[in-house]
Amino acid sequence: MRINGPENANSTIRERLELRPIINVSGTMTALGASIIVPEALRAMAEIGSQWIEMDELQRRASVVVARLTGGEAGFITACCASGISLAVAGAITGTNLLAIERLPDRTDALRDEVLIQTGHLVNYGAPVDQSIRVAGGKVVAIGAVTGTSDFHVREAITEKTAAALYVVSHHTVQYGMLPLKAFAALCHEKGVPVIVDAASEYDLRRFLADGADIVVYSGHKFLGGPTSGIVTGRKDLVRAAFLQNRGIGRAMKVGKETIAGTMAALEAWETRDNAGIRARETAALRLWKSVLDPVAGIGAEIVPDPTDNPLDRLTVFVRPESGFSANGLARALAAGEPPVIVRNHEVERGHFYLDPCNLHPGEAEIVAERLRATLAAPRPDDAMAPPDKSSARVLSWPD
Ligand SMILES: *Cc1c(COP(=O)(O)O)cnc(C)c1O
Repeated sequence: MRINGPENANSTIRERLELRPIINVSGTMTALGASIIVPEALRAMAEIGSQWIEMDELQRRASVVVARLTGGEAGFITACCASGISLAVAGAITGTNLLAIERLPDRTDALRDEVLIQTGHLVNYGAPVDQSIRVAGGKVVAIGAVTGTSDFHVREAITEKTAAALYVVSHHTVQYGMLPLKAFAALCHEKGVPVIVDAASEYDLRRFLADGADIVVYSGHKFLGGPTSGIVTGRKDLVRAAFLQNRGIGRAMKVGKETIAGTMAALEAWETRDNAGIRARETAALRLWKSVLDPVAGIGAEIVPDPTDNPLDRLTVFVRPESGFSANGLARALAAGEPPVIVRNHEVERGHFYLDPCNLHPGEAEIVAERLRATLAAPRPDDAMAPPDKSSARVLSWPD
């Protein structure tokens, strides 16, 4: 196995690395490689790779691009959204105190270090969001209950130790009973507390600042199609304090010149993205898959809008026992197929999964349709009714 080699000139990199040629209908997943990087970003990354660059100057240019697209006063590029959250939290704790920045995550006693978050926002996106607060020296103050937050939960939780509040926008969060961002931000601002928004997976680069956020953090590698990266935008003083963390905890989250240039190029490409054309292709894929699934006994299919209002629909696939599959069993069968089709399976215990059309290469929608048809026509595998696997055994077996 070699990643490069003359004997491999006619092969793809996945073949040379002996990696399965998966088709991703699960969404923009870190575990599947994060994104199809847009050509504009790939070009910028290749071009800057061999150049010496003054990094603070490059991030100054990034700030201009980020500000233009988001309406923020300033911004910069990070390694990912999770690190952007940590840097923003750290900035809210230390301000521009360079010694405090070097001391993080310790010695916060004399500083404001508490960070409020609604309990229904304590999600895990591959790692727990509260850890993004804690690595920055922040003390997590969970407010309200999983079933709801009221104004008094915010008001009474704010003390002279409160550094910031974190608000998560995501399908992962509890989708009812939470305070809307505008109300949450207004309550925080009554007491001068800045609001950091985790908008990792959101298309709308302006709405959260407009709704009262002081800092918003996006993933560069989700809908933007950038390299694995994050984007921090918002109030200049807070953005500066977050940026200065690169002299502290941010060093362990270092972002390279190729990532910064690639993310800037992805942002520029986003300005001229053919949204209508892409949406039409996605809708055609959803209709095709629905037409395959509708006639199958025990299977239902429904086109549903994105839960956080991104301009994106998905296909919910309901799997009833008459089909001979559990939702998890069908998802597993598709993932074990040839080629493997990876579906959006985080709700399989509720008897459904989703097909997400936003990461397809040309021709893949048809392959997915064929895999659905063939898998449902084939004899049921032994584990067709298997419940979701909650065991950590597989995770722990790496690298074997
Ligand atoms: C994906 C995601 C993250 C993490 O983003 P990275 O850029 O991969 O670090 C954080 N928050 C939410 C809500 C996410 O969906």
